[in-house]
Amino acid sequence: MYDKNNVFAKIIRGEIPADKIYEDDYALAFYNIAPESKIHALVIPKGEFINIYDFTENASTELQTGFWNAVNQTVYKLGVTEFRTVANTGKSSGQTVFHFHVHIMAN
Ligand code: 5GP
Repeated sequence: MYDKNNVFAKIIRGEIPADKIYEDDYALAFYNIAPESKIHALVIPKGEFINIYDFTENASTELQTGFWNAVNQTVYKLGVTEFRTVANTGKSSGQTVFHFHVHIMAN
């Protein structure tokens, strides 16, 4: 079950600050507080989705399209052309925040 008090939900609501890179009606992108590469961004959809399964099965087509477009826009804003995208899914994969997110990492 989605926890409305997870840290990314709080960032979307503006209850805790984030160093924003890109934002539109569908998604928000910001820098990771604990980067694991020179550039480490996170992109999150504006909606209540636990992981990529939840997002793919339950988000509207409009939101899914908007989210992946926001991932693209974030990459453009970061000014990188070579990077990794990661979506940890489940505790054993390393997921610690249970609001669907995509990592963008570049060196
Ligand atoms: P996960 O491990 O769930 O795939 O990724 C969650 C990421 O969120 C971690 O890399 C962690 O550093 C980042 N993170 C956790 N809390 C905050 C926060 O309050 N602000 C920001 N900007 N990143 C956070």
